[in-house]
Amino acid sequence: MGAASFLSLETRAPTFYTTSLSTLTPILETTTLDTTLRVNETFYSIQGESSFAGCPCFFIRLGGCPLRCHYCDTEYAFRESAPRTLRSLLQEAREVACPLIEITGGEPLAQPRAFALIRMLCEASFTVLIETSGSIDIRPTDPRAILIMDLKTPGSGECGKNLLGNLEHLRPHDEVKFVLTSREDYLWAREMIESHQLASRTRAILLSPVAAQAVGKEIKGCAALDPRALAEWILADRLPVRQQTQLHKHIWEPQTRGV
Ligand code: SF4
Repeated sequence: MGAASFLSLETRAPTFYTTSLSTLTPILETTTLDTTLRVNETFYSIQGESSFAGCPCFFIRLGGCPLRCHYCDTEYAFRESAPRTLRSLLQEAREVACPLIEITGGEPLAQPRAFALIRMLCEASFTVLIETSGSIDIRPTDPRAILIMDLKTPGSGECGKNLLGNLEHLRPHDEVKFVLTSREDYLWAREMIESHQLASRTRAILLSPVAAQAVGKEIKGCAALDPRALAEWILADRLPVRQQTQLHKHIWEPQTRGV
């Protein structure tokens, strides 16, 4: 990112985001570079999921999430966060100088000003990935950002929180992910893919078998799903999907934070 684009953002303050959604407009119209978000951690690592897996990436993990998935591996983001200004996040992203940024959580979109952060980073010419559960209205998302929507299966315990209207607002460059805990979850995902024609409306559909959870590591726990079983179901059904694992957990110890 060049200095010019950074300076142009500075001159854009105090208002650099507007939205037609009446509930968000009052919040976002008052957003400036001094506005704060609750941030759990930032780090530079290898992108572990999605069609960007394997790419170096700068991560911004926001605090908080309204869901409580059985297999959640980032519960620490619910209770550990500190305020950071948009200005400081932009400055850090600029110093890291990685063209790919992922905003994750927790549930990043649970903080309405996250939409302003997304817009700001898109304006600064970063490629911005958003990992969201799909339980928050995605319509205010900057159209340049790439959504990776993690639809919650019955096995997550949070299936009822899916905001299915969001599926109508996915763009062709977005991706949909399903974390699967069982054959029942797989059949549910297959039905969702077919009934909502997700393959033709998104760039990728990602199926992830839930990983074995460590005992006593802040995770409530649920049984792992055998990746080979999932692969065989996909092949038998000729599903137009991409099976994935969490690459970063193969590179580093699964409980390692900041990777
Ligand atoms: S949506 Fe994500 S961060 Fe929130 S509980 Fe589920 S897995 Fe954890």
